[in-house]
Amino acid sequence: MTSLPLLFEPSPSLFQDVRVEPEEARSILRPQKDERFGFGFALSPYRGCGHGCRYCYVRDYPNALHPPEDWGDWVAPKLNAPELLWSQRHRLHGRRVFMASATDPYQPLEREYRLSRRCLEVLLLCPTTEVIVHTRSPLVLQDLELLKAFGSRLRVGFSVPTDDDTVRQVVEPDAPPIPSRWAAMERLSRAGITVSLGVAPLMPVFAPQTFAQRARNSGVSSVWVGGLRLLKGDPFYGVLAGQGWLRVLDPSYSEEIRAAFRAVFPALKRECIPREPPDGHRRLVNDSVRQPGLFDRVS
Ligand code: SF4
Repeated sequence: MTSLPLLFEPSPSLFQDVRVEPEEARSILRPQKDERFGFGFALSPYRGCGHGCRYCYVRDYPNALHPPEDWGDWVAPKLNAPELLWSQRHRLHGRRVFMASATDPYQPLEREYRLSRRCLEVLLLCPTTEVIVHTRSPLVLQDLELLKAFGSRLRVGFSVPTDDDTVRQVVEPDAPPIPSRWAAMERLSRAGITVSLGVAPLMPVFAPQTFAQRARNSGVSSVWVGGLRLLKGDPFYGVLAGQGWLRVLDPSYSEEIRAAFRAVFPALKRECIPREPPDGHRRLVNDSVRQPGLFDRVS
């Protein structure tokens, strides 16, 4: 384990109120068909997420034990995740692994449980094509040496939905501050690790050009801008309305932000891949708030 000092030390207050419910998982690899990347697996070492972002649609996934309004108040570490993954390694040949689709692998509890790290140690020994670690937390730096050992087979993605940390404090109050994410991206890219940026779900951005330039200066190699998904009757709509931020639901707003990134990143490429939610899950408030080009890449 690296002894690098962390740029953001998760405060104990960030998880002292989280109910920790360790469990033995029955499965660990969830097949995932992604229009951009093809077939692969999603790997979530935890159920639930201590970041508890207020817009997070995962809260609505069927869960007999926890109602959606409790999202962020509980986390279930999958204690056997590394062993289960090792037992499933034959499925990983030539496959992509995305960690994680329904939790943040570097949420505060990872400091204690080390499940994401131990899963990565297993993946290092497996013939995957690519491993994508997606997070909002500089805690990922504690595994810097391990990440480097993957070489070009691994990418770290960071979500930065806004350029303003006061917006972050409203929508992701328990997630790490945005300046600490930029600093982590810089350190990762300086260490030779490929870093991508997800401006998702897009929240208010006050200086789009400066935001895009910040990403470029941080060593980010690719960017995608993803619009917000609202569930039917989603209380987050009230948050947006109360803050005067309903413009984030306007498709032209996403386009404005994408244009800013295209202007700053020289190798422009665009893939318009609207993704429909699976039946029975992410019902949108109405058609007018569905944003076309969800998950468009801008470079
Ligand atoms: S970090 Fe990701 S999984 Fe966790 S609450 Fe936020 S959006 Fe949801």
